[in-house]
Amino acid sequence: MEQRNQVYNNVLDLVGNTPLVKLNRITSEFKGDFYAKVEAFNPGQSSKDRIALYIIEQAEKKGILSPGDTIIETTSGNTGFSIAMVSIIKGYDCVLAVSSKSSPDKIDMLKTMGAKVYVCPAHVSADDPRSYYEVAKRLHSEMKGSVYINQYFNQLNIDAHYYSTGPEIWKQTEGKITHLVACSGTGGTISGTAKYLKEQNPNIKVIGVDAFGSVIKKYHETREFDEKEIYPYRIEGLGKNLIPGATDFDVIDKFVKVTDEESAHTARELARTEGMLVGYTSGAAMQAIKQLEENGEFGENDKVVIIFPDHGARYMSKVYSDKWMSDQGFFDSINEAAENIQYIK
Ligand code: PMP
Repeated sequence: MEQRNQVYNNVLDLVGNTPLVKLNRITSEFKGDFYAKVEAFNPGQSSKDRIALYIIEQAEKKGILSPGDTIIETTSGNTGFSIAMVSIIKGYDCVLAVSSKSSPDKIDMLKTMGAKVYVCPAHVSADDPRSYYEVAKRLHSEMKGSVYINQYFNQLNIDAHYYSTGPEIWKQTEGKITHLVACSGTGGTISGTAKYLKEQNPNIKVIGVDAFGSVIKKYHETREFDEKEIYPYRIEGLGKNLIPGATDFDVIDKFVKVTDEESAHTARELARTEGMLVGYTSGAAMQAIKQLEENGEFGENDKVVIIFPDHGARYMSKVYSDKWMSDQGFFDSINEAAENIQYIK
C-alpha cells in the first residue's frame, strides 16, 4: 500500500492514487466481493481533480496556457472546485458557469476558492442562451487568452481516467476485477477507466449508472436521442439531457437507471453501514449494485469495483438533511427523520 508519509510540494501532488476499500456490511448478503474506489481521498475531494489537473497540464504542454490566462468551465460543482484548486496553485484565473440546481454550499465553496461564478437556470435546453453551456461559450469568445475546458466534449476527459483511474484499479485488484460499475455524467470516468481495463481483460463487464430523466441509457441501447426521456431529477452529476462527446458508448456493456429516492436512502445507508460519508452519486452507484444483484448479475467469485465519485460533506443541505429528504417526500413517516435524535429540555 502506498504510504503518505512524505512531504508534498503542494496539494496537486496528492491527486489520484485513491484507495480501494472493501464494502462489508451493505453487501453482506450479496454474491461476490465489492470494493469502492473512494475518490473523496483526492485533495479536492472528488474524481474531478484528475481531469482538471490532466487537461490543464496538457494545455500547458501544448503552449495554449500561460500564467495569468483564464480557465473557463461549465460544472455542477466538482469540476469547478478542482479547476479552481489547480488554477490557484498554477496562477490562472478561473471562471465557472454553474447550474442553479447546484447546492448553495457548492457555489460558496467555488467562490471561496477564488473562482468567478455565473449561476445559470437548470431547466432550460442545452442550446438556450441562458444554459451554462452557452454562457461558458459566450464568455470564452469574449475573453482574450481564455481556455474552455468543455469536459462534456473533451477527449482529454476520457484520457485522464485512461491514464490514472484505470491503471490504479487494475493494480489494486491485481488484475482480478470482473465488473466496473460507475455513474455516467460526462462519461469520462467510466469511458477512460473501462477502455484501459478492457485492454487488459476484454471480459471485464462495464455497467453505467444513469438517472430517470436522462437520455443516456436509451441512447446506448438504440443510438437514438429521445427528448421524451428528459425531465427534471435531483441527483447532481449523473445522467444528461444531451449526448456527451466524452462518453465512449462502445466500451460500456449496459446501463442501469436509479431513482432519486432510492439513491438518497442508499447514500445514507452507506454512512450507517460502512462509515462512509460519500456523495449522492455514490449512493446512486450503490443503489445500482443492489438492483444488479437482485437480477442475478454477480457470482460468488466476482470482484466488483464501484466508483464513489465524491465526498458527502458537499450534500449536507441536500441528501443528508432530514428537512430536504422530508420536503422531497423521501421519508415514509415523520418518525423516520426523528429516529436518531433526542432533544433534552
Ligand atoms: N458524480 C458526481 C458527483 C459528479 O460530479 C460527476 C461528474 N459530473 C459524476 C459522478 C460523473 O462522472 P463523469 O462526468 O466522469 O461521468
